[in-house]
Amino acid sequence: MQENKNINALTLEEKIALLSGREGFYTNSVSRMQIPAISLADGPHGLRKQLSNKELGVSKSQPSTAFPTAACTASGWNEDNLYKMGQAIAKECLNYGVDILLGPGVNIKRNPLCGRNFEYFSEDPLLAGNLASAQIKGLQDMGVGACVKHFALNNSENYRYISSSICDKKAMREIYLKPFEIAVKKSQPHAIMCAYNAINGTFASENKHLYDILRKEWGFNGITMTDWGANRNRVKSLLSGCDLEMPGDNPICRKQIYDAVKSGDLQEEQLDISVCRVLDLVEKYKNNKAVDFSFEEHHKLAGEIAQDCAVLMKNDGVLPLKTSEKLLIVGELFEKMRYQGAGSSMINSTKITTPKNAFEENDATFEYLKGYKENSFDASEELILQLEKKLKESKADKVIIFAGLTDFAESEGFDRENMFLPKNQLEVIDRVIQSGKKVVVVLFGGSPVELPFKNEVSAILNMYLPGQNGGSATYNLIFGKACPSGKLAETWPEKYQDIPFYSEYSKGEWEAYKESVFVGYRYYSTANKKPAFPFGFGLSYTTFEYSDLNVEILNDKITVSCNVKNTGDFYGAEIVELFVNAPIGGLFKPEKELKGYKKVYLYPNEEKLVEIEIALCDLAIFDPYSDLFKLFGGEYKLLISSDIDNVRLSTTIVIQGEKMPQMDEKIYNVYQNCDLLGITDEIFERMSGLSLPKEKEKLPITLESRFTDLKLTFWGKILYKAVTGVANNQLKKAKKLPEGVERDNKIKSATFLKRIFDSNILLSLSMSSSGRFPYGVALGFMHIANGKVFKGIVAILKPIKAPKLPDKKLLKKPKK
Ligand code: BGC
Repeated sequence: MQENKNINALTLEEKIALLSGREGFYTNSVSRMQIPAISLADGPHGLRKQLSNKELGVSKSQPSTAFPTAACTASGWNEDNLYKMGQAIAKECLNYGVDILLGPGVNIKRNPLCGRNFEYFSEDPLLAGNLASAQIKGLQDMGVGACVKHFALNNSENYRYISSSICDKKAMREIYLKPFEIAVKKSQPHAIMCAYNAINGTFASENKHLYDILRKEWGFNGITMTDWGANRNRVKSLLSGCDLEMPGDNPICRKQIYDAVKSGDLQEEQLDISVCRVLDLVEKYKNNKAVDFSFEEHHKLAGEIAQDCAVLMKNDGVLPLKTSEKLLIVGELFEKMRYQGAGSSMINSTKITTPKNAFEENDATFEYLKGYKENSFDASEELILQLEKKLKESKADKVIIFAGLTDFAESEGFDRENMFLPKNQLEVIDRVIQSGKKVVVVLFGGSPVELPFKNEVSAILNMYLPGQNGGSATYNLIFGKACPSGKLAETWPEKYQDIPFYSEYSKGEWEAYKESVFVGYRYYSTANKKPAFPFGFGLSYTTFEYSDLNVEILNDKITVSCNVKNTGDFYGAEIVELFVNAPIGGLFKPEKELKGYKKVYLYPNEEKLVEIEIALCDLAIFDPYSDLFKLFGGEYKLLISSDIDNVRLSTTIVIQGEKMPQMDEKIYNVYQNCDLLGITDEIFERMSGLSLPKEKEKLPITLESRFTDLKLTFWGKILYKAVTGVANNQLKKAKKLPEGVERDNKIKSATFLKRIFDSNILLSLSMSSSGRFPYGVALGFMHIANGKVFKGIVAILKPIKAPKLPDKKLLKKPKK
């Protein structure tokens, strides 16, 4: 890497300042040298440019387009969507002077209960990596940087600030790091954000092993930054390879760096490497200018993408409906569509088109009843009575029920407690089914739910979280103005208990990824277990015929091709999926793995040649003994499928490769047979070579203690109440607002903040507070909670002598 020309003119204090954030979402500036601040903003499915950094939590932001979330876009299997979306978001960023978008999120969906699954693409690393790459390209082609997150193994929320993901090398490389690797190699994102959690005992912000893989193996040349408050020890994080500390405003971090340079623990040359990376980014964005765009066009694009991604999970022929039909519609989500997730990605949408808006705009004839309250889990007797009455009176023989996960059931910051739909909704669905009418269920939500009623309804259309124009997409799909063409990017299990090690998920300070590579469909296909809806599954209003499979191997490329013909009456799209069944050998491996796919759009009777190209090295698997991906010799079955369980064409190729090493026979057998009972802690430890940590004592309180644990002591309880009072007050104020979007959003952000307090630790709370909960106060809280009140007060009052910031006021680039 070349040294930035400004580096030698900077003082040590200025360099230190450049390595941390300021005012929530900026880097520091050095006005003396005309080095402006870089402006960052969430992400990932639209822009959340906060209006101010005065309030704690997710405060009001500039109006922007809420595009479909990753859970939704992933089901489109269409990189064009992500590219266009990236470009559109970039235009909005340029409009508001934002240089880097905090996204996309590429973590693997390991368990459907993860509160943040809506923000992640898939359980499959190839799909997640490819889709992320397209969004990154879209953003960066417009001059806006992408910050891929959360590096790495951030797969649960409850304990995200403290938990350690314990994972063997093979699963780490083949599953959890893979989407990052693909994103880095395919699209060179400008930035990577580290996760809060630890990986095998070392926090992501200080995980040299991961940063070395990122830079030395994959060739990443952008900047690495902490998640907001993920920094632990600033010197350790710099030494391990983490350049920027966000959100910053932590004098203790500046002091740690300064002292370490002065004592020689940290070489200034090492510091310069990170500073140069920041300076290079400043240069990259310096000529960024606002460009013309229309929010209306973006609203339209959001709707088109949602339409391309929705998954028709069941249809006995009832769909599409005719506009002339008499319909009864039930479910408050019809008018209060859940279209985005809660937490840091929550956008202040420019406009919302709910299904109700779309039905009305199109003059559809329908009767509508709420049935349940979206913001509650309990059935309302009054609404149920109304429903019963209406079901008796109504002439409609078809009922569309709008159901799904609400922000109260699913959010960043916590994991769901179960896989059920809210019970008031289940009650409504049950009552409608009992009426004998034909039922169409439209689902919203960021992740799979159990569908105990699936055999009793006529159709299920899954919209996921479709963005602000999801209503138009829903309308078009229900009435056949468009043909559903999404396929599931994740398995929908029959019940939560079907997931490997379900009872151990997100329960404490560490989590063993005992199932290794058998995540999602890799488990179901190997264990021969039928889920409710398999990976890659999705219905259409038309039918497709596959023929003429052909395989060509030239140099190091394999081209698999076939013809696909639309044999039905609708213009529609088919997603052709290529799974590979690799040879059996001494290392355990999943039965099938996705190696390629293509979405093809066809008019009735139209036929197209579909070509899927893969590199030979994409068939390599990770050999934990040599720490390398290797291509092993043998017979590889190529399975052209319309979902993982539905092979349409297949053939076998023989590849000359290395000989697989042999694992310990017992370990091999339990894993290869997916014998979950056989995978004991001891077997996992032997397989991974890792030791499972011991549970830590909760007392005395340390800086690493969870905020809720303060309640364990007398003084701690008082402090806890004082701080969480901030969130409670926000909630009280929000509840007093008149009904409407602003009230809803404020309630959601206050609830989110409350949860963040509960799951956070003293140190991260301080690191993420932009100076509002300074390090000294965190230290003071720790002492006071431990009964050392005087020592605590001294810590709170003692100023931290840190190098001053070069600029009193941030030098922000003028808005164009
Ligand atoms: C989230 C990040 C987000 C950041 C800034 C963190 O709590 O984990 O994904 O980008 O906040 O809002």
